[in-house]
Amino acid sequence: MRNLVLILGDQLDRGSSVFDDFDRDQDKVLMVEAVQESTHVWSHKARTALFLSAMRHFAEELREKNMVVLYRAMGTEDDETLADGLSATIRDEKPKKIILVEPGDRRVEALLTQTCKENKCPLEVLEDTHFLTTKGDFRKWAGKSKTLRMEYFYRDVRRKTGVLMDGDQPAGGKWNYDAENRKSFGKSGPKNVPEQREFAHDKITKEVLSLVESKFAEHPGTTANFNWPVTRAQALDALDDFIAHRLPRFGPHQDAMWTTMPFGWHALLSSSLNLKLIAPREVIAKAEAAYNAGDINLASAEGFIRQILGWREFIRGVYFLDGDSLKKANHYEHQNKLPSWYWTGETQMNCMKHVVDQTLQHGYAHHIQRLMITGMFGVTAEILPQELCDWYLAVYVDAVEWVELPNTAGMALFANGGRFTSKPYVASGAYVKRMSNYCDGCTYKPDVKSGDDACPVTTLYWNFLDKHLDDFQNNPRTALMVNNLLRLSDDQRADIRAEATRMLNNLDAL
Ligand code: FAD
Ligand code: SF4
Repeated sequence: MRNLVLILGDQLDRGSSVFDDFDRDQDKVLMVEAVQESTHVWSHKARTALFLSAMRHFAEELREKNMVVLYRAMGTEDDETLADGLSATIRDEKPKKIILVEPGDRRVEALLTQTCKENKCPLEVLEDTHFLTTKGDFRKWAGKSKTLRMEYFYRDVRRKTGVLMDGDQPAGGKWNYDAENRKSFGKSGPKNVPEQREFAHDKITKEVLSLVESKFAEHPGTTANFNWPVTRAQALDALDDFIAHRLPRFGPHQDAMWTTMPFGWHALLSSSLNLKLIAPREVIAKAEAAYNAGDINLASAEGFIRQILGWREFIRGVYFLDGDSLKKANHYEHQNKLPSWYWTGETQMNCMKHVVDQTLQHGYAHHIQRLMITGMFGVTAEILPQELCDWYLAVYVDAVEWVELPNTAGMALFANGGRFTSKPYVASGAYVKRMSNYCDGCTYKPDVKSGDDACPVTTLYWNFLDKHLDDFQNNPRTALMVNNLLRLSDDQRADIRAEATRMLNNLDAL
């Protein structure tokens, strides 16, 4: 045997560079279902099921192309770690070399590098060609800048790729349509919400769902609503469905939340993109084609393309530039434990209850639910960033460390002190009230800062401002927030501090 090509669960890319030089007569593919990948964080059942089903389907696809696939499955080989599966295969097959695309998790890369070393087998790590930009491109763009801003990176990539450009100018004359994309649903709520596309479970998926439900019975979440694409064909269907039915209205309400609407007009493509079932280039091309055909307006097209061509590429660049420091980052030196209701949804705070429940039901929450509900609470409730990072990595079907860590530690928790965000994302219950119907029927009242009915989101927000007054005052983006705090009397501020201390001392009881 010549090369052993190791394919990880989030590398299901038929166009991957590992196949460029693949020789069916001399090379083999190895795929390992390692238990540790579901237990190093306490993974949601749907997340594990998605990875396993998609991996098994991909292995079938490769076999149909006459490749030899050594597939080490849970329930048969039962490898505890990727290292166990790789070591056993090196011993049995004695390959001359291992080939691997760079993993999206530094822990995994270190583990596999060490395993190859211990087994005295050379390892070749290839660049991941799935992305539009390389780690080197990003490093060069970032240079020695202390702060990094997505907006400038995004404009650079638009210019280089020509996406939504009229010559050297942005299509429509503006780079950014965010201001048109922050609408709430108003009191009457969302209208004509599109149905989610349904993906029937085939034999492989059914087997995986029952394996996961028995092997990981105690893990959070459920597979009862499992409806994620597990093959490239399904992912392409999901993409077409989004372009036809949701993208035309994606923009305006992308920040809005409603108790009966888990998905709204969102793309639901992150898991397919992150498993590499589809490529960002083809997603962007379809969205741009819909705009050019006059099927969608520019605000929706730009608002969506910015997420993939801008945020997704930028976040990956940040992970490979700052990953090690992000893992330890704790700008505010927060030390609180994660309240237990993050795993159960059993809290009286309606906003948190709904977002956690939805997460447990589907392994999904949209960006603003992650950023401004579960994330924002983490900052003002002074939760240790690493506890919340582990939670995010565990509970979402699209969670892989390269994308989860910068979003959580960097964007939601400001744990790196604003390396790529200009201010902490914090707001009072008034924001939640405006953008959702969560406050209707909540035990707490969003505009009450202390005393009976005080809303924890509101109290902890004012307390946070009070504690970090100087920082907020010195930042032009947040100076206005401080003016509102300074309008309160000394007694009112003391009441807020006392109420917040009571809450912070018993977050589990909220
Ligand atoms: P849409 O909202 O419809 O957006 C379209 C696509 O844009 C997404 O599919 C995604 O690929 C991309 N995208 C949008 N925002 C981001 C972003 N900030 N970073 C990277 N890609 C983005 N995304 C993940 O893919 N995996 C994660 O583990 C993850 N963790 C997050 C944790 C926190 C605290 C926050 C605030 C955000 C996180 N995100 C993560 C980003 C974003 O919330 C999800 O990509 C998005 O909600 C997925 O749903 P969708 O496909 O319907 O996306
Ligand atoms: Fe959340 Fe406060 Fe609104 Fe309740 S009142 S839903 S806790 S913001």
